[in-house]
Amino acid sequence: MTSKDPQCQQHDLHAAAATGAARGPVVRVAVPKPLHQLYDYAVPPGMRLPVPGARVRVPFGRQTLTAICVDAAPVDPHDQPRAVLAVLDDDNVLGEELLALGVWLADYYQHPLGEVLATLLPVEARRGTALQPPTRRGWRLNEPLPVPGRAPRQQALLEHLRAQGGRASADALREAGFSNAVIRAAAARGAITREALPLEADTAAGQSGAAAGAREGDRPTLNPAQARALATLEQGLGSFVPTLLDGVTGSGKTEVYLRLIETVRRRGQQVLVLVPEIALTPQTLERFRSRFDRADTLHSNMTDQQRLQVWLGCRSGGTGILVGTRSAVLTPFARLGLIVVDEEHDGSFKQQDGLRYSARDVAVKRAQTLGIPLLLGSATPSFESLHNARSGRYRHLALPERAGGAQMPSFHVLDIRGHTLSDGISERLRGIITTHLDAGNQVLVFLNRRGYAPTYLCPRCGWQAQCRHCETRLTLHRHPSALLCHHCGARERLPDRCPACEHGALRAIGLGTQRTEAGLETLFPGVPLIRVDRDTTRSQKRLEAQLTLIRAGTPAILVGTQMLAKGHHFPNVTLVAVINADAGFLSADFRAPERTAQLIIQVAGRAGRAERAGEVWIQTYQPDNPMLRALMEHGYHGFAEQELENRRRAGLPPFRPMAIIRAEARDAAAAQRLLAELKSQLTQAAGAGVEVLGPVQAPIQKVADRYRYQLLLLADGRGPLHRTLRVLNDRPADDRRVRWSLDIDPQDTF
Ligand code: ADP
Ligand code: ZN
Ligand code: ZN
Repeated sequence: MTSKDPQCQQHDLHAAAATGAARGPVVRVAVPKPLHQLYDYAVPPGMRLPVPGARVRVPFGRQTLTAICVDAAPVDPHDQPRAVLAVLDDDNVLGEELLALGVWLADYYQHPLGEVLATLLPVEARRGTALQPPTRRGWRLNEPLPVPGRAPRQQALLEHLRAQGGRASADALREAGFSNAVIRAAAARGAITREALPLEADTAAGQSGAAAGAREGDRPTLNPAQARALATLEQGLGSFVPTLLDGVTGSGKTEVYLRLIETVRRRGQQVLVLVPEIALTPQTLERFRSRFDRADTLHSNMTDQQRLQVWLGCRSGGTGILVGTRSAVLTPFARLGLIVVDEEHDGSFKQQDGLRYSARDVAVKRAQTLGIPLLLGSATPSFESLHNARSGRYRHLALPERAGGAQMPSFHVLDIRGHTLSDGISERLRGIITTHLDAGNQVLVFLNRRGYAPTYLCPRCGWQAQCRHCETRLTLHRHPSALLCHHCGARERLPDRCPACEHGALRAIGLGTQRTEAGLETLFPGVPLIRVDRDTTRSQKRLEAQLTLIRAGTPAILVGTQMLAKGHHFPNVTLVAVINADAGFLSADFRAPERTAQLIIQVAGRAGRAERAGEVWIQTYQPDNPMLRALMEHGYHGFAEQELENRRRAGLPPFRPMAIIRAEARDAAAAQRLLAELKSQLTQAAGAGVEVLGPVQAPIQKVADRYRYQLLLLADGRGPLHRTLRVLNDRPADDRRVRWSLDIDPQDTF
């Protein structure tokens, strides 16, 4: 990056304009291209000067792009920059804080500023659409005041409007009890006129109102731990205090968020709540909406227009509460007072392509810049956050017990060595399931693999169904029967006979949710089965229908993947059965133990959330696996302590920062060559305390016909790591044959 601080003021631009009088001013622009460079453009005479953060239309090669002005540029008399075609905004569209955040993101994630700034804009705004502040439908009292009519409701309406300063939104009038008929009649006789009001109009009332739009009626009384946590959090309002709210599943963390949000709203400030997946847990949003008059949302199932409206509402201050997924952390706010990250350990907070940011880490950065509190909540905190809490960088608040009288479930390990299983279910587990169903309860059976079976093979010659495009096995699916690749999406017909030896009886080996479902159907005829995985929930409607069925509460068996582990509140589930705990602990990824433990504790947390006590049974072939034992005997925190010690000894995150460089190409040698080149560049730049490891094959070596290799960097500090990686900025991200990318703080090391 060659520019100076882009937050420079507009007078710099005029100064530049003055010195280059004959040639006109020149501005430095970030174009939405994967290039680590800013470009200079001349502002033709008569055109308004763009301020930093204003969108401009510029010619680029043969294209015309919507870009962002970041700075004034010195006028070089020998230079002949191309001219800006149009200035689209009078102001900084992102606002100062977000523009500065963009610069920080570009630097921290070593991503081109032009692409980062484009990411910060809603899609509509990237296209150059004019950004009108959002409005609501409203009514204005006409002058001169009309002569009093005889209709008392109309008269009341006019008086109400006068008391409101002559204007009110249609929603507010309806809430005040004026029917559409009355409003239409008053309009018909010319007493009032339709008018678009700024969105802020209504929330101004919220700021002075007692609870800022919160409904107080149906709130539970906080238990002592919740009350203590809330009191501590309220003391921290108005300054940067990052807090880890470490509360067991069902301990009432959400209730603490809601109360804190009320206080922040009463101060007239806005609140950002980040959640892992809104589509999966519509309950969470409902809870915010049932407590506050209004909570806006941002998630992937919205149109570009809808997203733009919400974005503008947040920017103008009209939106009081935004509940959103990962990318909501990049929204501008006029008066942000609090950021909450719910289930902060969740992997979905990390973006896996393009600008590979962690929404949780960006939330920390924003809270720090704005001087506001940040609340990270989880029953299974990420090791990063635990480490920060232990080292005193975060405040650590605990909610050790379930709220409202519910008990934590009991844990049991079921050793299945030597047992015959029926589609994954042992005889013992079958009995336990029966007991719970007979008592009128629901049972949750967890297996983290979708499809029918992960392997389809020939028992005679050993042939296995493999993906043609990836180095993986195909997964057998039923209804309809097909072999699917879970990596590239390829689909193949089931062969009738073995393609290698013509043997006629091919066999499905291993377990997926479809097979478990089929097995349970046979074992428990007549019991309703609800399967929840990516295949059964492609439509939001179907997912919601399934969740409704579960909440109906009649005895049923739920079968599903990690989708069932996420934040759901199923009051009638009293048994959670983990069919196979072993696979997760065996993975090569250094984060696998952390993730597996989180998954087991989270899915277990669905048991016994109401009056009826819950139990958790875990089937394993490795009852003596030290990780499983640590988790069972010492709980998540004891487990984490042990694992963190292993990480510290191995010099891994969170003790040392990590980065991965991935390369993929149709030609394996080309990918390896590129990484070898990058490695030598990096090694030259690396000072003491920076390790560059590799290149090695990615754990899945080929996906979609591309061979994948990677380099791993570990450093003793962020400074050395980032200084080293900066040497890559001069390289184009892709050449025709090899695609490569940099991932800072990667979540997956493959
Ligand atoms: P978490 O977010 O920690 O999983 P929730 O806030 O969802 O926990 O609370 C779990 C359940 O307990 C919810 O049904 C919630 O309404 C209820 N609850 C929370 N706090 C209280 C309380 N103080 N008294 C009674 N019930 C509570
Ligand atoms: Zn064969
Ligand atoms: Zn494939």
